[in-house]
Amino acid sequence: MRTALVIGAGIAGPVAAIALQRAGIATTVCEARADAADEAGAFLTLQVNGIDALRTLGIGHVVEGIGFPTPSMRFRSGTGKLLGEVSTGAPLPDGTVGVTLRRSDLYRALRDEAERQGVTIEHGRRLVDARRVADGVRAEFADGTTVTADLLVGADGVRSRVRQVIDPDAPPARFVPVLNMGGFAPAMDVGAAPGTYEMVFGKRAFFGYVVAPGGSVWWFANPPQRTEPAPGELASLGTAHWRARLRELYSVDRTPACRIIDATPGELRAWATYDLPSVRRWHRDRMVLIGDAAHAMSPSSGQGASMAIEDAVELGRCLRDVPEIDTAFAAFEGLRRSRVEQVVADGARSSNAKAAGPVARVLRDLFLPIFLKRQGDRAAAWLHGHHIDWDAPVVAGAGAGSR
Ligand SMILES: Cc1cc2nc3c(=O)[nH]c(=O)nc-3n(C[C@H](O)[C@H](O)[C@H](O)COP(=O)(O)OP(=O)(O)OC[C@H]3O[C@@H](n4cnc5c(N)ncnc54)[C@H](O)[C@@H]3O)c2cc1C
Repeated sequence: MRTALVIGAGIAGPVAAIALQRAGIATTVCEARADAADEAGAFLTLQVNGIDALRTLGIGHVVEGIGFPTPSMRFRSGTGKLLGEVSTGAPLPDGTVGVTLRRSDLYRALRDEAERQGVTIEHGRRLVDARRVADGVRAEFADGTTVTADLLVGADGVRSRVRQVIDPDAPPARFVPVLNMGGFAPAMDVGAAPGTYEMVFGKRAFFGYVVAPGGSVWWFANPPQRTEPAPGELASLGTAHWRARLRELYSVDRTPACRIIDATPGELRAWATYDLPSVRRWHRDRMVLIGDAAHAMSPSSGQGASMAIEDAVELGRCLRDVPEIDTAFAAFEGLRRSRVEQVVADGARSSNAKAAGPVARVLRDLFLPIFLKRQGDRAAAWLHGHHIDWDAPVVAGAGAGSR
């Protein structure tokens, strides 16, 4: 039986491990974090194409009961004017729509399912290097141990070590010029329909919120930030700083943003975010990248998790059907690259719209309604309607099995 080592137990890693096991490859996942350390970040949306890809592997149930449906988004200007409403993707045939869920719940559910299916997940195992050896790939870990497997999958996120190993000259990830913050406010009246995202292009910053079942308000904020913060800079600014900063940004808008933030208990943190416009080498010497390691996208795309899941499923199909490992990786890249790079580009455009200056803001508010209409129709066709057929054979050099 062939063996695989997957680096990273975020979203792509556990799903890839399940797909590889189904393809007849015994898989171990090595994750840098210690078991108890749960993931930073508040919540994310999983779109219908991501849910469909989970179902392709027979694991759609993992997201049932841990999130809530969020079928649509309403865009407003800071004056409260409605600019447009788009769906988060046409429902799947059984009526399922995109869901919003806590990041930590999604990670845990995927890890638990992988372990239930016989995948070994080792925590506290940080990959530091890897190289091709006669009988496969030898991975070296920070704890001094080595493991050899037939192939290695880099599912180690935007700051991927595997990416550097595959291409030591790979450019670093690109800073996205808005920060990300988020939280959960207790039930309160914000005048919004449950499950519908309210997305506000405020005068100074973008703000999004959605009412969850039970009435609590899940929110995120995008303070503009032109230059990349120094390491540790954001963490050194405490909750009082961020509360004051958000108040300054949102007090000029006619939205419930300040009330929501004031009602949010606990600490507030900000994250810098990055994307990867085009990673030139996805694979080499039996090592391959998937998920954010290959194509990190701005959170504005709302697709990073779904694309990571799609990657994992397609990699499983390619390794199942294409006997030679590096040829299977080339087939995988052929199936995935143009699709994910289109999403990265769309995400970057959305982030820039969030950080617009005064003139661009006026134009945006004029043209956004038209753009949203067009974008909504286009996304329905190629983005959300994407379906992977697990049973369709992959032929090296062809793109069979996806629509
Ligand atoms: C603020 C924010 C909001 C977002 N919102 C959304 C959203 O609404 N919808 C959406 O679809 N996407 C969203 N995303 C993007 C989404 O989170 C990512 O696209 C997704 O997590 C990618 O999954 P991944 O498995 O490739 O990487 P990750 O989830 O980052 O997982 C990588 C894993 O690898 C581990 N690792 C790293 N280095 C090593 C190493 N050397 N050795 C071993 N393990 C290692 C890490 O600890 C981590 O567990 C958001 C991102 C951010 C930052």
